[in-house]
Amino acid sequence: MTSNFPKTSAKTENSEKAGNAQSAENTADTNSEVDNRVHRFISNDLTLRAAVVNSTAVVREMQVLQKTYPLPTVAVGRCMTGALLMAAQLKNGQSVGVHMRGNGALGTIYAEAHFEGDVRGFTHSPQYQPPNYNEGLSLHKAVGNGTLTVSRQQPFQKQPHYGTVDLVNGEVGDDIAHYLNQSHQIRSLVALGVSLSQSGSVEAAGGLLLEVMPGVEDEIVDLVMKNRNESRVDISQMIKEGFSPQQILEPLLKGIPFSSLDHPFTVRYSCPCDKERVLRAIEILGVKDLTEMVDDGEPVPVVCQMCGKPYDVTVSDMKDIRDRLHRNSLN
Ligand SMILES: [Zn+2]
Repeated sequence: MTSNFPKTSAKTENSEKAGNAQSAENTADTNSEVDNRVHRFISNDLTLRAAVVNSTAVVREMQVLQKTYPLPTVAVGRCMTGALLMAAQLKNGQSVGVHMRGNGALGTIYAEAHFEGDVRGFTHSPQYQPPNYNEGLSLHKAVGNGTLTVSRQQPFQKQPHYGTVDLVNGEVGDDIAHYLNQSHQIRSLVALGVSLSQSGSVEAAGGLLLEVMPGVEDEIVDLVMKNRNESRVDISQMIKEGFSPQQILEPLLKGIPFSSLDHPFTVRYSCPCDKERVLRAIEILGVKDLTEMVDDGEPVPVVCQMCGKPYDVTVSDMKDIRDRLHRNSLN
């Protein structure tokens, strides 16, 4: 019980190049027929649990809102999908944040998802382009070395619970598997995929999380590993081809009876921003800049970077913040 399953989905994810869109016309309608829920499953002996999601709609929405280029789209989309899968294994009202911080050009990527299916994602470099697209959409170089922090928030709990691990390769799936192993002693298979059309728009996105509960007998683990070597884990391609969540999971659990669990929440892109948060963010400008803006006498339009919602910060708002900052600096 010391290691994760072998490499999860690096092979297939790296093959998801921009321009890998041969069968787009045949499958364009597929996603509208699939219900956008995180589907949960459990083996009948309760030793394995799984979650599978078609996240195409929410990753697409994120791309439209933030105008992300191919590589940032894949990075944020995988983080959103991973957060959705982990959140679905928690309880009502709980949420998961996935925060990747690398020293590469893509910098920071953030996503958060709720048990009830609300999800959002963000990168500081939405229009980043790698020097060479011919190498495929590998996140490894763009993210660089760094850490993955996963936060878990419960209702009425002041501080979230944080767990931080070093990045394995920055491709997100392996990094989340490493986190689950280090922080929760859970071995897992995490496959996350975002596939793009030739023009760079999201064609399909989805993921699978298969977790082995601590104390599972070796025979079960061996069987899953054998199945894994004989199965496809190119999730976004399978979604494009019309595979259902159950059909995606079945080959991995061949020989292991399992059932689906009720999880009736539709996945949707949702941002809990409000004016109060926007005003708090403006404090960072400091007294000097705020004074200049007050003197200019013009309201400042501010747009939430995660959802595009516009806010008008009035001169009186800026004056209030400036005065409060000034008072606090005197204390
Ligand atoms: Zn927002």
